[in-house]
Amino acid sequence: MLHLYNTATKRKESFTTQTPGKVGMYNCGPTVYSRLTIGNHRTYVFADILRRTLEYLGYEVRQVMNITDVGHLTMTDEDKKKQGDIEITDTDDGLDRMEKAAAKENKTVWEVAEYYTERFIEDIEALGIKMPHVLPRATGHIREQIDMISTLIDKGYAYVTESAVYFDTSKFKGYGELAGQELDEKMVAVRTDVEKDETKRNPFDFRLWQLNQPDHSMQWDSPWGRGYPGWHIECSAMSLAYLEQPIDIHTGGTDHIPVHHTNEIAQAEAATGEQFVRFWMHGAFLRVDGKRMGKSLGNAYTLDDLAEKGIDPLSLRYFFLAAHYRQILNFTWEALLAADARRKTIRDAVVTWLAHAKRAEKAPESFKTDFTSALEDDLNMPKALAVVSDLLDADLDPAAKLAAMEDFDTVLGIVGWESLRKFTPEEIETIEEKLRNRELARNNKQYEEADAIRAELLNTFGVIAEDGAAGHAWRYAGESGQ
Ligand code: AMP
Ligand code: ZN
Repeated sequence: MLHLYNTATKRKESFTTQTPGKVGMYNCGPTVYSRLTIGNHRTYVFADILRRTLEYLGYEVRQVMNITDVGHLTMTDEDKKKQGDIEITDTDDGLDRMEKAAAKENKTVWEVAEYYTERFIEDIEALGIKMPHVLPRATGHIREQIDMISTLIDKGYAYVTESAVYFDTSKFKGYGELAGQELDEKMVAVRTDVEKDETKRNPFDFRLWQLNQPDHSMQWDSPWGRGYPGWHIECSAMSLAYLEQPIDIHTGGTDHIPVHHTNEIAQAEAATGEQFVRFWMHGAFLRVDGKRMGKSLGNAYTLDDLAEKGIDPLSLRYFFLAAHYRQILNFTWEALLAADARRKTIRDAVVTWLAHAKRAEKAPESFKTDFTSALEDDLNMPKALAVVSDLLDADLDPAAKLAAMEDFDTVLGIVGWESLRKFTPEEIETIEEKLRNRELARNNKQYEEADAIRAELLNTFGVIAEDGAAGHAWRYAGESGQ
């Protein structure tokens, strides 16, 4: 029985869906103004693990992730510093990240969006993240956003000023319930010193449609004048355009709880009069060397930084899985290298099993049961990885280990099967012949000869001869070197 932590109720709940056997899931996606950082990656790997877990448990999942390609006003790194450790990326003031990137890179905002959407897709592929079924772009859904804003105005939940169409938070009963206490503390702190628009009625009111910003590159006609949508409206409008209401699961980083998701709920439920989402799930933040990650701090690493150090993106994925998604995780290069070494050990084991698997075998059912119950316990991936460790250590036929790992890796996605070293039958024959020669040499007390063969096996094939090992006499250690 799957249990998931629901931010809306603040407890683990047994998971049920609106339609039996089917899950509609929406993940807040990237703003395509720069390369994704390892912090963003953590949140998308979490969404991917969630999807793969649901599929492993037999659900049919429809996954929708938005691409935010309209620029929005956000906090600058300077603003964030003032905020200390509070993670909020989405207030209504500061700088437009898309416009800033366009100016810096001498591109149009459209080119910036196109370029970084492509980079985003490359990055998630490298991280073994399955492609969402729909990746809707905000600029492709202006009509849906305008329609929802019109409904909100008609129903008395929104008002028009000369600077914007605002959502009237005082009209929506239960505004801020998702964040609870957090809302008062964090939002007041953020809003008091950055909010400037005098035409706004209440401090928490937020923009649905921005007006009178002639310098902004992206503009559309609307019933209220030329302008562009506020950020939150795109997710309410696009999620309901592609998924049935109530949506089963909606995810994002924890920074989205006090503002973005709070506002999404207000818009969608005010417009439709129905529950918007059943399960709200949030991934905890990644920190770097114990500090907040930020572009200006020089620690907002990307996959390029990993490539420079020769680290496979799947090792970053493994590093994320080694911590529970609701726990803040601290990134250090040392910790990533340790994850990389561990993943290589697992790959080496898989290569060994592939070479030694003679016939189809199954691992005892207890492995799958333990693995499944780890997943069902609110995606307890550290526990799931512990089952993988047990499998590596178990005294089982290699074919049985291989079958279990193939099954587990449909969720974990850490092995990277395509790039595995695979021994050909001829190579295996050669290796075994050399092992026999070594055995003969040892029996004749020709230890120098035996050692030479051992070294040759290691250097040529990355293979370690295992003296007296039960089952198989050699294993692959070419990647991890141990
Ligand atoms: P953004 O492009 O800033 O909207 O961020 C995209 C996604 O990455 C959002 O779901 C954020 O919650 C998430 N995110 C941003 N920074 C971090 C971080 N340091 N750790 C984990 N997730 C993050
Ligand atoms: Zn969103």
